[in-house]
This record gives sequence, structure tokens and C-alpha cells, in this order.
Amino acid sequence: MIDKISEYSFINKIGEESTHLIKRKEIKNFPRKYIPDDLKLFLKNFKAEKGNIYVLNSALGSGEFWGTNSRGDRFPESGLIHRGSQWGYDTYNYYGSLFRHHINKDVLNSYGEVVLSSWDPELHRVLLVIKIPIEKKNEDIIQRINNDEPIETSMASKQPYDICSICGNISKRISDHCSHINNELLNIYPDG
Ligand SMILES: [Zn+2]
Repeated sequence: MIDKISEYSFINKIGEESTHLIKRKEIKNFPRKYIPDDLKLFLKNFKAEKGNIYVLNSALGSGEFWGTNSRGDRFPESGLIHRGSQWGYDTYNYYGSLFRHHINKDVLNSYGEVVLSSWDPELHRVLLVIKIPIEKKNEDIIQRINNDEPIETSMASKQPYDICSICGNISKRISDHCSHINNELLNIYPDG
């Protein structure tokens, strides 16, 4: 297994803010026309539990459509769309919590929880609803969200292996990485 950290900018590649405060009557305010069915149902019945705010986060998209992230990783759509607790977007529904700086071993250190992970087939991406308790430890996060300030997010995951896009080498450990991954990450060759 390889531990991965993926980082996402506060403005995603289609110019949307990646994190968006969910308000009442959200369906009317939703930034896009298309809403996945499970998210639509969630928003239709949306009632904030007292003492919490909720944000919508555009977490990650399939590599085929969104390309490579800033760390040179791309996640194939076939892996992301898988349902169940083993891999894919559904794993957020089982294990997803909000952490700071990837101190994520103990759920007691979390700052919020993923209450819905939804696959957006139109934009080939994972959308998360995250519940954040209004507590002292979250004061700065909530202030930034309420002031519409940029929030950058990242994701930690475990991957069974990496495949090099140049030579096809499969590495199950970092020590198995080929020279392309070690020395030429994010380089684009003249032939693409
Ligand atoms: Zn290689």
C-alpha cells in the first residue's frame, strides 16, 4: 500500500469554489443545474442539526476528465465510481472525516464528518457534504467559510499501487518507483 496525499486548490479547474456553504433552500441556490440524485434528496430534506454548519466540497475528479493533481497523481474513473467500503467514492461514506494537516489516525481528532459522498456523473467527480460542529476548535474554519474566504482541501488515501504513465511500471511500495516517477513527475514529453 502507498499512502497518498492529494491537494486541491480553492478554485477548481472549472472556476468554481471547491468548498461552498450549504444554506437553506440550497437546491434553488445550487451553483449548477445538474445535481446527482442522492445529493438532490439530501438537499431537498436538508435541515441543519443545531450547532453545526454544512459545506459542499468538490473533492476530486476522475483523472480522465480532470487530469493529474499537483502531486502528479490521477485517479481513474473506474476506481472512483466503485460502491462499497473497499475503494471508490463510497469509502467517504464509511470513513470520511475532516482533519487538519493529515493528523488523521484517530477520529477523536477530527473537526467534522462527511455525511454524504455523492458521485457526480456529469462532471465526473466526487461531491461531499461535510458537517462541521460550531465549536471553539473550529472557530477559524467556520469564520473563513462564513466570510467566503478561500479554503484549500486535501485528501489522504491508501492506494494498492502506482502505475507509471510513461513505462507502465507498477509499484506497490515507494521504493519500487521507476525513474520517471522519482525524477520526472509532472513532466510532459513532446509526444504527449
Ligand atoms: Zn516509469
